[in-house]
Parts: sequence; structure tokens; C-alpha cells
Amino acid sequence: ATPTALMVGTGKGAENGVLIRDGEAVQTMKDITAVVLDKTGTITKGEAEVTDIITVGDFDEKEVLKLAGSAEKSSEHPLADAIVKKAKEKKIQLNETEEFNAVVGRGIKAVLNDKVILVGNQKLMELNEIDIKKLKDQIIELEEEAKTAMIVAYDGKAVGIIAVADTIKSDSVKAIKAFKDMGLKTIMITGDNARTARAIADQVGIEIIISEVLPEQKSNEVKKLQSQGEIVAMVGDGINDAPALKQANVGIAIGTGTDIAIESSDLTLVSGELSSVVSGLKLSRYTFSTIK
Ligand code: ADP
Ligand code: MG
Repeated sequence: ATPTALMVGTGKGAENGVLIRDGEAVQTMKDITAVVLDKTGTITKGEAEVTDIITVGDFDEKEVLKLAGSAEKSSEHPLADAIVKKAKEKKIQLNETEEFNAVVGRGIKAVLNDKVILVGNQKLMELNEIDIKKLKDQIIELEEEAKTAMIVAYDGKAVGIIAVADTIKSDSVKAIKAFKDMGLKTIMITGDNARTARAIADQVGIEIIISEVLPEQKSNEVKKLQSQGEIVAMVGDGINDAPALKQANVGIAIGTGTDIAIESSDLTLVSGELSSVVSGLKLSRYTFSTIK
């Protein structure tokens, strides 16, 4: 492209809330065939709130929240933040746990009074041989409501479920429809479980979902699409997304995202809105088809 074309592109991009780090990416954007969207923080606001606390056995709601909050206190995961926030709201005094272990893509493990607290998904419970048969129906129900259900276990037994919900960004539906109208294969990628992912995808009109992806596997999923001939734009916000943003033909970070995601991207959306990706793609198609 001529430098003028790039300048025009950059100028218009900035007006539309797109910050461009790599000029070449602006051109590549016109050739994109698939858009991969991270779920949490990209399609949704990434501000999880506790919606349900379900208890089993001898523990009441406050005790379940206290165990979970004590275990999650040192975690930086958005799900942990939601639990700790809820405990604070209820004025629950959290305990100091002795050991703390984040289990990537699964949850956390901490020790209190020589007993293990686990907070996480079904896989984490399976790995630690916690029986969750009695909770299965309730977990399914919560996940069908688009909530992420975390199981809390203490001393070898499941004691409850804490569910969180996230809000879909106001322009996600419109932007996703625009991607599809542009003929782009539109895909949601997430570490969350398949049922919750499906429920959110239904709300925004996405049919293709890659769920239960461990953080380090997100870039592999992008690679797979590329080997099928797709030219991929990846949109994400988290530390988890950084390798996938690098792998993609165009990596797009959203402005509210982590520094690592932004550094790994070609473009940053200042507004954090998916509509800016639509503007960027249209702008690239327009600019580089008229100038040639
Ligand atoms: P995502 O960023 O898409 O939520 P992660 O890989 O961070 O993906 O997490 C995948 C799943 O692992 C979560 O949906 C949750 O079930 C579980 N998980 C991860 N971290 C925690 C945590 N700190 N507390 C409870 N559950 C967690
Ligand atoms: Mg995210």
C-alpha cells in the first residue's frame, strides 16, 4: 500500500476507536475469513457477579462463602474477585489459608486447619475424587442459565455451589451479526464449560464454539483454523489470550485488557467494543480495494 493509504486508514481508525500498532495488519484485515472471539471480557463485560449460593450437607450459605472466599483471596482470577466481593458485601471475615495453588483452567486449592478447600469446575473435583453426583442437576440448571457454576469442597466433600453471571456488552449482538453479514466465520473461544458457553453463544448469535480450552491451547486452536485455510482475526483481552493474539493473522486487543494482551496485538480497540472491529474490517476492505 502507499503510505497515504496507510495514513488515511490510521486516521480513520483512530476516529473509530482503533489504535494501530502494525500498519501491515490494517491491510491483512481485508483478507480475514474468520473472527475468533474470547468470551469473558470480550463478548461479555468480564465483570462476574455471584448470583446463587447452593449448599449441601452441614454448611450454610455464609460458611460456604467463607471457605470459598478464604481460598480465593490470593487469586487474581475474575471468578475469585466475584467470590471475594460477595463475601465482603456480607461482611464475612475471611481466613488466612496456608497453601495456595491455582490449577490452571480448573480452579484453586488451599489448605485451612490442615484440611483442603477446593473451588472450581467439575474437572477439578474429578481430579481430587470429590463426589458431586448430588449436585449435577443443579449445576446443569445454572449452566443453562448462562452462569458459571463453581463447586466448593472442604475436607474431601462437596459443600456447595457458587454461581456467577457476567453481562453481555451492549453492542456484542449487533457486531456479531455484522461479522456474519460480512461473510466471516464467527467463533467463540473460552475456558469455560460447554453448556455455559453455549448459553452465552445463543444469546449473541454464535454457532461455532470452542469451549473448555486450557489457556495455553488457545493459540493451537487458532493454528488449527489457519491450517484449514482460514485467515484469522483473534479478539481478546486476557493474559491467556496473548499467545493466540500473536498466532492470529491479526491480533486485536481490547482497550480494557491486560498489558500483555495489548503488547501481543497488532491493533487495540480503545473503546473495548466489538463494533470497532467491524469498523476496522470494513475500513480495511474499503481502503485497500479502492486504492489498488
Ligand atoms: P476463562 O478465562 O475463559 O474463564 P480459565 O481458563 O481462566 O478460562 O478458566 C476456566 C474455568 O476454570 C472457569 O470457567 C472455572 O470453572 C475454572 N476456574 C479457573 N480459575 C478459577 C478460580 N480461581 N476459581 C474457581 N474456578 C476457576
Ligand atoms: Mg477474556
